[in-house]
Amino acid sequence: MPLTALHATAGALDLTAPGVGAIPWEQIHRARPRAPLTCRECGHGLHAKVSPLGARFFAHDAGAPACSLTGETMSHRMLKMELATAIRSAGWHAELEAPGTGWRADVLATSPDGQKRMAWEAQLASTTAQDLTKRTATMAVEGVDVCWVSDKNTPWMGQVPSIQVQSPGESEHATNSGLAVIAGPAVFDPLWCERARRCDRANAPYGRPPGPCAGHGHWTGLGDPMDLHCFVQHVLGGAVKAVRSSTALHLGFDRHNAGPYVWTTHPHWAAEQKQLQAQAARDAWVADRGPHWDAIPSQRALHEAAKAALLARQAALRPLAVEFVATQAGGPVGVRDPDPDWAMGTPLYVHDLAQAVISPVASRINDEIKQRLASVTVIVASTKERNRLARVCAAEQRFEEFEVETAKPLKPPSGVTLQRALDHLYPRY
Ligand SMILES: [Zn+2]
Ligand SMILES: [Zn+2]
Repeated sequence: MPLTALHATAGALDLTAPGVGAIPWEQIHRARPRAPLTCRECGHGLHAKVSPLGARFFAHDAGAPACSLTGETMSHRMLKMELATAIRSAGWHAELEAPGTGWRADVLATSPDGQKRMAWEAQLASTTAQDLTKRTATMAVEGVDVCWVSDKNTPWMGQVPSIQVQSPGESEHATNSGLAVIAGPAVFDPLWCERARRCDRANAPYGRPPGPCAGHGHWTGLGDPMDLHCFVQHVLGGAVKAVRSSTALHLGFDRHNAGPYVWTTHPHWAAEQKQLQAQAARDAWVADRGPHWDAIPSQRALHEAAKAALLARQAALRPLAVEFVATQAGGPVGVRDPDPDWAMGTPLYVHDLAQAVISPVASRINDEIKQRLASVTVIVASTKERNRLARVCAAEQRFEEFEVETAKPLKPPSGVTLQRALDHLYPRY
């Protein structure tokens, strides 16, 4: 059911335009002889009609071929009329069902100077993102931008420049009687870490410094629906453009709205560009420092290495410790697993009575363990280890030192501490 028709002498008639072109309605509706009207799409004869609710439209005469305008629903026509009205109130010319090369625009907006054209498509029938991408490209060849409009949250929403609209009846947010845009426009929320060392979301490996913050900003939909007329005016005026975003979308809708296209203003586009540049700078920073970075053992690696060295030392001391306890206490010696109650040292027992502990960890000795250790002998592998433990043990603590071969624990490179290595590599932070 088209809203436009081709008149044999007057040319294209548009029911949404004031005055229906050059011909008064009375001369085409129920006129005798009947008005010479044909369909701009299929060329078949048309006649003017009025719906039970008083809406004017054109209908194909009997025996019409398959025509894409025949199947148009009432809501499709209403949406096209809304779009045409919005375009005209923005000061642009609106042409309905306008033909192009290999395409037909539902509503074609033309700037007052005739230089710019933009199609507004009421896409209510289901279709695919691929199909719309192709049709968008076809129109782009002729310099025509397009905005696809749906009243549903479709799978192609955001995959092409598109918006979702809602009738005022469907929402309490509607500000006036017109349609509201509820998806499509978006703003970029920038988020920068003021102190990069606190940049917990930078994906640095465990224990490594984060480097410069690449920004954690994202796109977000408008909090409130936007009046369709207002949106169309901003788009035609050039303040709002469709951009293909490269940053994660957090639009607050379901997965359908995860397409890359958003409608936004220049400052928001620039904010995303700034973050993309920061990401590139960060990538370069990582690439530049990668080799140094890899040379530094991570905190976890140092911890694992220290643990392995401790277990190796305890294993090496065990036979000598057993011999020592057997001689001192005179009984069968039981060796138990490293125990937190003994600061991860290996305890040796005779008749359920602890006699000695091999290499407890100094940093894990608290007051309680200190008292417990005071009743046994602490077995160590070096004077250095003895001195380290003596500082945290009771004054009367007994020690026994045995010389054994032990592996050297993993150390940061070239004798510098981990922190100094990091400070050298990352002076800016
Ligand atoms: Zn037709
Ligand atoms: Zn950050």
